[in-house]
Amino acid sequence: MMIYIHIPFCIKKCSYCDFCSGVYPEEIRELYVKRLISEIRQWAGEYKGRSITSVYFGGGTPTVLAPSVIGDILQAVRENYDLAEDCEISIESNPGTVDIVKLRSLKDAGFNRLSIGLQSIYDKTLKFLGRIHTFSEFEDAYKTARQAGFLNINVDLITAIPSDTREEELEGIKRITELTPPPEHISVYSLILEEGTELYNRFYGKDTGFSEDEERLLYWDTERLLKESDYEHYEISNYSLNGRQCIHNIGYWTMEEYLGFGLSAAGYVRIGSKKYRTYNTSDMDEYLHSESYKKMTEESESDEIEEFVFLGLRLTKGIDLLDFKERFHRDFEDFYKEPLERNIKNGLMTRKDNMIRLTEKGVDISNSVLADFILD
Ligand code: SF4
Repeated sequence: MMIYIHIPFCIKKCSYCDFCSGVYPEEIRELYVKRLISEIRQWAGEYKGRSITSVYFGGGTPTVLAPSVIGDILQAVRENYDLAEDCEISIESNPGTVDIVKLRSLKDAGFNRLSIGLQSIYDKTLKFLGRIHTFSEFEDAYKTARQAGFLNINVDLITAIPSDTREEELEGIKRITELTPPPEHISVYSLILEEGTELYNRFYGKDTGFSEDEERLLYWDTERLLKESDYEHYEISNYSLNGRQCIHNIGYWTMEEYLGFGLSAAGYVRIGSKKYRTYNTSDMDEYLHSESYKKMTEESESDEIEEFVFLGLRLTKGIDLLDFKERFHRDFEDFYKEPLERNIKNGLMTRKDNMIRLTEKGVDISNSVLADFILD
């Protein structure tokens, strides 16, 4: 079982961001942390004794909080849940919000994985994206994180940004692989124009400089480049060095149970023989002051099967049909014989022994392949 903790605070809203995050005054941050800790305690009884394999602080920018406050939240988790000895404890951060004192105290508190939101190596692009930092501030943060003892670091990058050329973006990715030592993990996401964001208003329906075909080319060039530097492409947007895949992400894609705490956090839990999705409100006022901030809906078997297939096909290794049978007590073909055979015939999926996965062609049009796996 895993735990996700949402810290919705940022120093400034980026131009592409539709995450549940924003700039809040200190009084709200204080109330939020109190509420969060009480939520963490409130749900503990149900799950005491379950081994927690991953705790993930995401955001927002969790590192805008003082390290002692982050430490208090993690301590509340430790006191109320049973963290596995080798539990992955991750925190997202942004350059400009960390220094050696903060990073050392996060390390001392038990964080063993740091994710740094870089997004681009070009200051002009960082400005375009509305980021608060420069590339040189990232380099400092990265170096400092190593000095503080972080041995497992992820760097987040964005591609297909209207202010960049394809060559610039590939050069940027290459530059990150050349850090010494190189990051254990790199996530590369294509820019999505999310409704309601500044970039959506500026570019929706207009030429972003990257057509769909050019984006696909960039995607495969990114893979080639990272593979040349020994990164394993293990999920559509994620790469790892020496097997350092993100335990939290893998758990999410293989549908492990997780508890979600904080504003807008989602969860997926088993109670008795039933599975539930939980959703926290995205309204700060409601989260802070209402008792009905969390909603729960029972997951039907067909929803669970679809989700398992959709998430599993994001993984490069694909879906293990024996895992499917163990989980659902039925064969995959009982549900999906026809679409599986058709997609294999069309070169969009492959099957080797008990593993099925998307081919390169299948990844390129994954949305339409996945649509075949929606159950009536
Ligand atoms: S730092 Fe991250 S969460 Fe905050 S506004 Fe920027 S992209 Fe969104």
